[in-house]
Amino acid sequence: MSKTVIIGANHAGIAAANTLLDTYKDQEVVMIDRNTNLSYLGCGTALWVGRQIDSYEGLFYTKKEDFEAKGAKISMETTVDRIDFAKKEVYAIKKDGESYVESYDKLILATGSVPISPNVPGRDLNNIHFLKRFQDGQAVDEILSKDTIETVAVIGAGYIGVEIAEAAKRRGKNVLLFDAAGRSLPNYYDKWFTDDMDKVLADHGIELHFNELAREYKGSDTVEAIVTDKGEYPVDLVINAIGFLPNNALGKEHLELFANGAYLVDLHQKTSDDSVYAVGDCATIYSNALKKTTYIALATNAVRSGIVAAHNIGGTPLESTGVQGSNGISIFGYNMVSTGVSVEAAEKNGLKVKYTDFQDSQKPGFMKENDDVKIRIVYEEDSRRVVGAQLASTTAEIAMGIHMFSLAIEEGVTIDKMKLLDIFFLPHFNQPYNYITMAALSAE
Ligand SMILES: Cc1cc2nc3c(=O)[nH]c(=O)nc-3n(C[C@H](O)[C@H](O)[C@H](O)COP(=O)(O)OP(=O)(O)OC[C@H]3O[C@@H](n4cnc5c(N)ncnc54)[C@H](O)[C@@H]3O)c2cc1C
Repeated sequence: MSKTVIIGANHAGIAAANTLLDTYKDQEVVMIDRNTNLSYLGCGTALWVGRQIDSYEGLFYTKKEDFEAKGAKISMETTVDRIDFAKKEVYAIKKDGESYVESYDKLILATGSVPISPNVPGRDLNNIHFLKRFQDGQAVDEILSKDTIETVAVIGAGYIGVEIAEAAKRRGKNVLLFDAAGRSLPNYYDKWFTDDMDKVLADHGIELHFNELAREYKGSDTVEAIVTDKGEYPVDLVINAIGFLPNNALGKEHLELFANGAYLVDLHQKTSDDSVYAVGDCATIYSNALKKTTYIALATNAVRSGIVAAHNIGGTPLESTGVQGSNGISIFGYNMVSTGVSVEAAEKNGLKVKYTDFQDSQKPGFMKENDDVKIRIVYEEDSRRVVGAQLASTTAEIAMGIHMFSLAIEEGVTIDKMKLLDIFFLPHFNQPYNYITMAALSAE
């Protein structure tokens, strides 16, 4: 029997554990996590805090007992504080202070990511929160329930910041959304798309403070104001959402790291130590669009990487197929989905690209219910392979289209191949001259 210890029992660790336990009966699996709960879907925090769903209960998809039933040893509220990689031993401390040692044949690091704290004075005042764990969502939810809380500042207009800004607005608060960049969601979408999103946010009463840098949080015990390079604003609650860093605390002295500190892994999820795998937010990932190793912290990637690591440990050699960073966002009924790289992201990464845009209604004009759709396909200038796509609309029907682009990027399909692609037509769904076809046909 081979023994695998998994540190971190959230999405990546869970996927690895389930794969090992369900597929490889000769595996002894030990899971250790410092949190009180596991499997919390952070993507549901804004839905629950914004009262778009009734409770948080459905946001957990498994529990400790499910793993025990499959024969795993799982210790929650237990922190691993050190690993002896030479001896293959993990040193853990339980909630009551008792410490113990767990040996391993293989180790999976699934320690995730930690929110970045803005390095400004006053950041430790009360009513300043991150949004990562279930407990963070609970704290924000509780504070928002108080009538005395009138104004909320959200720092960071990435997808987590934008979603919680919407949620706070839905709870009737004044919401100020700050970002040092000039627009929302700059990592995933080009300006043609985020201009629409920024309008949606502003139209719903969210005060946008772009190109504005937080310099200080002011207050005696509790935050009372935020100071930026452009002004000072009274606020009752601050939510920090400026991004995440890989949690490499346990292995940073021993393992090879990526530029941002993530554990550098190969396509088998193996680190620079033969016995150690890393999965999810603490590890790197291969981008098919950029054709290089990168860092993309998403639950979808966490799950896939956990599955890959587990199969390799279990004895089935399996390579990751790489990822496209496919993602979506839905704010006040406005939906955007993207995969691969935007034009701006391509340029930042030194990829020479061209793009083709198209805008139309989803269905033929004679249909009673209809929505506008906009699409951009990004392709590499020389090879003409598709490297990104973005779609936006008030209809959620655009969502499934992005998966096709994801596969196109993974398979290196060219923009020219997409021009005459067989796309069905039925008025209930789309137009005879489909917007995907039209965008591809109008490529240079
Ligand atoms: C608000 C929010 C919304 C999101 N929305 C989406 C979305 O819509 N779609 C999407 O794909 N992704 C989304 N994400 C990202 C997604 O949640 C992460 O990519 C995912 O949680 C990564 O999973 P993980 O298991 O790698 O790491 P984590 O979820 O960070 O889990 C790491 C685990 O390791 C444990 N741990 C760490 N160090 C130790 C230690 N020393 N000892 C013991 N235990 C330890 C932690 O307690 C934790 O349980 C969202 C994230 C947030 C915060």
